[in-house]
Amino acid sequence: MATVAASVETICRLLPREDRPDPPLAVLDELVGTVLSQHTSDHNSDRAFASLQRRFPSWEAVVAADLAQVADSIRCGGLAERKAATIQSLLREIERREERLDLERLRQLADREVESYLTSLPGVGPKTAACVLLFALGRPVLPVDTHVHRVATRLGWLPGGTTAERAHGLLAAAVPAHLRRDLHLALIAHGRRVCTARRPRCAECVLRRLCPSAGRSG
Ligand code: SF4
Repeated sequence: MATVAASVETICRLLPREDRPDPPLAVLDELVGTVLSQHTSDHNSDRAFASLQRRFPSWEAVVAADLAQVADSIRCGGLAERKAATIQSLLREIERREERLDLERLRQLADREVESYLTSLPGVGPKTAACVLLFALGRPVLPVDTHVHRVATRLGWLPGGTTAERAHGLLAAAVPAHLRRDLHLALIAHGRRVCTARRPRCAECVLRRLCPSAGRSG
């Protein structure tokens, strides 16, 4: 893994820097926003989150609403029924445990405690928990979504066939803490624009001289 750690620095320098322009959200807002971001673009998930907030004045109102009303309000983000059900379930569970709809107390907990709490909620997996840790709490974790997983595999950082769960552990061990946020954002952007799933644009890729999969991935 020492070789990986060395090349991580180089690859971070070569990839265009990406950032999220908005200030960090409240923990619960980030959690709901991350659920909405699954299987859709940032643009559509941002629209769905804004629409949900316009339609319902509070998380309590989302819990009290009919499932169909919640689904209608997030239709532009895709998988509306499924996401609406997940959002209502996790809000109900949080309200049951916390006796209110607020997760700001998680800011006082260690990373592992936050991860354990979040992944025990219905519909929340390790990637969603890692996004909340990274973006709402500013913790140095590296969420592994489909783009990060694919690009890291093509770069030779992960053995072929590595599961998402194992990838989290391997990349966490290989990527220095101060690079994780930047690398996460840069790999997602690279996976969307250049190192795409079906036809990676290796000829125009800034990593082609370092990448063992250049010209070979399909
Ligand atoms: S060279 Fe090709 S496979 Fe390697 S990172 Fe770039 S686009 Fe992906």
